[in-house]
Amino acid sequence: MPPRTVLIAGAGIAGPTLAHWLTRHGMTATVVERAPALRSGGQTVDLRGAGLTVIRRMGLEAAARNAATQEAGIRFVDDQNRTKAALPADAFGGKGPVADLEILRPELSSLLYEHTRHDTEYLFDDEVTALTDDSDKAHVVLKNRGERSFDLVIAADGIRSRTRDLVFSDTRTRGFGLCTAYFTIPHRPSDGRWARWYNAPGHRSVTLRPDNLGTTRATLS
Ligand SMILES: Cc1cc2nc3c(=O)[nH]c(=O)nc-3n(C[C@H](O)[C@H](O)[C@H](O)COP(=O)(O)OP(=O)(O)OC[C@H]3O[C@@H](n4cnc5c(N)ncnc54)[C@H](O)[C@@H]3O)c2cc1C
Repeated sequence: MPPRTVLIAGAGIAGPTLAHWLTRHGMTATVVERAPALRSGGQTVDLRGAGLTVIRRMGLEAAARNAATQEAGIRFVDDQNRTKAALPADAFGGKGPVADLEILRPELSSLLYEHTRHDTEYLFDDEVTALTDDSDKAHVVLKNRGERSFDLVIAADGIRSRTRDLVFSDTRTRGFGLCTAYFTIPHRPSDGRWARWYNAPGHRSVTLRPDNLGTTRATLS
């Protein structure tokens, strides 16, 4: 029997991870990614719990630690930058607000892609525009590459997945009234290796997190 073929939509974190495990279990994985190349956006992801177990079982823990942001922990500061409380990265057994293994989303994505690209077919700059299931195969139409058929299609194309919308109706996301702007600013030596969090009056907050690329990841909420 030929290996089962699986199409995964999305080459972020979940997509390449699935490709690894499905290939390991004898399947042939194809990943279709809407962007023309791996997306370089995203902030810090904490690898803990199940995520850490998965990365360990993939043999990628050392590589993830090499690419980690190396934050010392998090300090809650006042409007004069005075520390009110400090939680080091090893607080709560490394499972505190800043975990002992924090990695930028694009660094993690790239690690997973490099680990899987030799035995996974990656189709960049494409997406599924139609999907039908005849109970034997799933037939998809790829926007730029036409029709293909797979044994299984998995939507791993993020929170606003269009692939999921092709299968399920009423998948709207619901807002909770919290708005956060994420951006990257230069890192100054005086910023140090601690993340900082300032809660201002009026439900506002600012966070600054040093990364491993010489910049600081900032949020305004
Ligand atoms: C701004 C931001 C900050 C975050 N901060 C944190 C944090 O501090 N800590 C933490 O733990 N987690 C954080 N996260 C969450 C973490 O990044 C996500 O949980 C993680 O990236 C989800 O992985 P994913 O593979 O499901 O989706 P994604 O990483 O979003 O990847 C989805 C991929 O699918 C592609 N795609 C989209 N539509 C299609 C389509 N129709 N067809 C094909 N491909 C498609 C996208 O281009 C993308 O490459 C943050 C996320 C964001 C966006």
